[in-house]
Amino acid sequence: MSTKILPEGDVRQELSQDGDHERFSHYADRDKITESMVTGTPIRALCGKIWVPSRDPKKYPVCPECKEIYEGLPKGGEPDKSE
Ligand SMILES: [Zn+2]
Repeated sequence: MSTKILPEGDVRQELSQDGDHERFSHYADRDKITESMVTGTPIRALCGKIWVPSRDPKKYPVCPECKEIYEGLPKGGEPDKSE
């Protein structure tokens, strides 16, 4: 299981799973979530999914990939060492 966070320029739409990510509440930068809720612009979650945050995230289960990535983040701000 890769915990690598994709760089900003490497966003891919996963067409084969289109819609799947809409059923989860993903983790992302709080500022971006707030901005997205205002503008309606999709953002990239921790797991790499492009999604529009729900106004009612409690309605959805937390994305297991995001949760794993979030909990696996280095506490001391170390750079990614998965490669
Ligand atoms: Zn996710």
